[in-house]
Amino acid sequence: MDDHRRQGIGMTSRRTRERLAGRLGDAGIRDARVLNVMRQIPRHLFVDEALASRAYEDTALPIGHGQTISQPFVVARMTEILIRDRIPSRVLEVGTGSGYQAAVLAALVDEVCTIERIRALYERSCALFRQLDIGNIRQRLGDGFEGWPSAAPFDAIILTAAPETVPPALFEQLADDGQLMAPVGGGGTQELRVWHRRAGAFNEQTVEAVSFVPMRGGIEG
Ligand code: SAM
Repeated sequence: MDDHRRQGIGMTSRRTRERLAGRLGDAGIRDARVLNVMRQIPRHLFVDEALASRAYEDTALPIGHGQTISQPFVVARMTEILIRDRIPSRVLEVGTGSGYQAAVLAALVDEVCTIERIRALYERSCALFRQLDIGNIRQRLGDGFEGWPSAAPFDAIILTAAPETVPPALFEQLADDGQLMAPVGGGGTQELRVWHRRAGAFNEQTVEAVSFVPMRGGIEG
C-alpha cells in the first residue's frame, strides 16, 4: 500500500474507530478501558487491504483459510468479562486468527500467549505484531487442544474458536483464581461460557449465545 493511501486510511480510521467505540457503547459495552483500546487498535491492518474500508463495521470479516476476524462487539464483550474482576497478568488465547483480539488484550495485560494452527495466519500475525511494535505477545504455531504447557499457568484463558467441549489440558493450565472463557458447542451457534477456578474447583456460568468457527485439531500448512 502506498504512503498516501495508508495515511488516508489512517485518518479515516481514527474517525471511524471513534464511531465504532460509540456504537459499542450503545450496544452495551460499559468498560471505559475496553472502549479506549477499541478506539486505539487499527483494525484495518488486521484484514486484507480489499476489506480495509469495512474494518470498522461491527461485523466479523473473512481473513482467508475459511477463518474470520471476530466481530468487534464480541471482542469487546469477551475482553470486558475477562478484566471485570481484576486485570489478569498473563493470558492464553487459543486461535490467533488475524491477531486482533490478542492486540486488544495486549494493550491491557502484561503478557498474551497466543496459539494458531494455520501457518499462514500465524506468520501474518507475527509480521503485524512486529510492524505495530507490540512486544508483549508470545506466539506459537500449534494445536490449541494441547494448550501451552511450558508457559502455564495462565491467569486467564480465552478460546476464539469453538470446541465441542473444552479440552482438559486447558483447565489444567489455568492458575488458581483464574478464569477460562470459551464458546462451546457444535453447529453454527454456541454458548459463551466462563469457568472460575477456586481452590481447584471450577464454577461454570453461561454468558450468552455466540457464533464462532469450530476449533480443529492439528497444524495446517
Ligand atoms: N481471535 C481471532 C481474531 O481476533 O482474529 C479470531 C479467530 S477465528 C474466529 C478462530 C481462529 O482459531 C482461526 O484462526 C483458527 O484457525 C483458529 N483455530 C481453530 N482451531 C484451533 C486450534 N486447535 N489451535 C489453534 N488455533 C485454532
